[in-house]
Amino acid sequence: MSHMQAEPGAASGPKHYYATNGTIHPRSVRGTFRSLKWWAVGVLLAVWHLAPFLRWDRGAGAPDQAILIDLPGRRAYFFFIEIWPQEVYYLTGLLLFAAITLFFMSALAGRLWCGFLCWQTVYTDVFVLVERLVAGDRNARIALDRAPWSASKLARKAAIWALWLLIAAACGIAFALYFDDAPTLLGQILTGQAGTATYGAIAVVGGGCFVMAGLAREQVCIYMCPYARFQSAMFDEHSAIISYEAWRGEKRGHAKIGQDFAGRGHCVDCGICVQSCPTGVDIRNGTQLACIGCGLCIDACNTVMDRYGLPHGLITYDSVANQQARERGEDHPKIRLVRARTLMYVAILSVVGAVMLYSLASRKTMDVNVLHERSPLFVELSTGEIRNGYTYKVLNMVREDRTLTLAVSGIDGARLELVGEEGDGPTAALSVTGDSVGTFRLYVTAPRDAVKGQKTPLDFVLTDSRDGTVVRSSTLFASPAE
Ligand code: SF4
Ligand code: SF4
Repeated sequence: MSHMQAEPGAASGPKHYYATNGTIHPRSVRGTFRSLKWWAVGVLLAVWHLAPFLRWDRGAGAPDQAILIDLPGRRAYFFFIEIWPQEVYYLTGLLLFAAITLFFMSALAGRLWCGFLCWQTVYTDVFVLVERLVAGDRNARIALDRAPWSASKLARKAAIWALWLLIAAACGIAFALYFDDAPTLLGQILTGQAGTATYGAIAVVGGGCFVMAGLAREQVCIYMCPYARFQSAMFDEHSAIISYEAWRGEKRGHAKIGQDFAGRGHCVDCGICVQSCPTGVDIRNGTQLACIGCGLCIDACNTVMDRYGLPHGLITYDSVANQQARERGEDHPKIRLVRARTLMYVAILSVVGAVMLYSLASRKTMDVNVLHERSPLFVELSTGEIRNGYTYKVLNMVREDRTLTLAVSGIDGARLELVGEEGDGPTAALSVTGDSVGTFRLYVTAPRDAVKGQKTPLDFVLTDSRDGTVVRSSTLFASPAE
């Protein structure tokens, strides 16, 4: 049984890196996989379009949108999680978790993501549905494409493009709604009162949707998507994949209803599996890069098998190991879920998940950033003391205002002075309003004999006496050569 990945355009002769197959007009099918795909389309589109309208109470003065990327406020909200720009490592963790989940999914169930869940697949399904509703099934659409231009052809094509544009615009609008209060922004968009950036984002995302799902379609999966290129590395003989059981189907040939299939293969060479395929694959030629694992060819072939009174599963969604067992006449074994590869993915997912949960649970409510002023690095005062300047930023990541105490340690007798305020001393009081960044310029003055060398380690210690939070940050104190 072939488990090779055939490259598009991999015929004998000069190597082609791009080969167009012309427009693909997938035939409509009914069956288990088609139903699953419609459910996936419905659920995913509902989530995409409705999620921005979910509310989440964060208290007075805070946005109440459950999922929000607040670019002007430089903040991202996901239900109870609030991410500051300094915490983008959460995003890295999330992307890593998503990537490993994808690998895990592939090891278990092949290209489940590509066939059922990917943005490209979902919107292509919707766009093809529009074509079918307006222009009919595969044969009618092929006939329409071949027909000379007429008023009727123009009307149908215009209707298809108009509906595609509406769907693409809705996709772009849904994207924009994640960046501002959704009900308000939707009203502004529909009444022409939204900003240029909003309309620009809608045009880019909506235009991308139109081009990818309406015009490029399978070319995106075959030539543009990097995941298609390396996903086969995640399969093993126990991964469930879509394949043709050649041992049962061959030798193929046309057949009459009711005829005896003894001594020949069950494939009646009707080509309906190929006609139903959204990427134009003939799965009988083996597993291929262009096959997105949607299972529509299974539904199509099962319908044909019913017609001829033959058992389902000439094209199957099963592991290579199981198919080989069937070929040997052994019982249909179960998919082996527990194996070294899947255990490894579960272990990595557990570690990444645990680290993310721990870091969220122990998330800081206050952080600081210290910048040593460089020009000048130090000033020698008339008293003989040395003074260094710093910019000290406090990120108050709770909504309540805070009054904090800042102290320095590491240099005996060092004093703090807030620029613009009278006096200095061993500590300074800093006030930072809730959910904001307080920026302070300050001087540290130290006796000449308390510093050693040109760079002395110095710690800033910031304390919130109300909840006992302490944030310590290390820097250097510069002084002249002795
Ligand atoms: S070959 Fe079958 S599973 Fe693969 S993309 Fe085509 S219809 Fe879907
Ligand atoms: S639909 Fe089934 S019977 Fe028809 S060509 Fe494809 S594999 Fe053969």
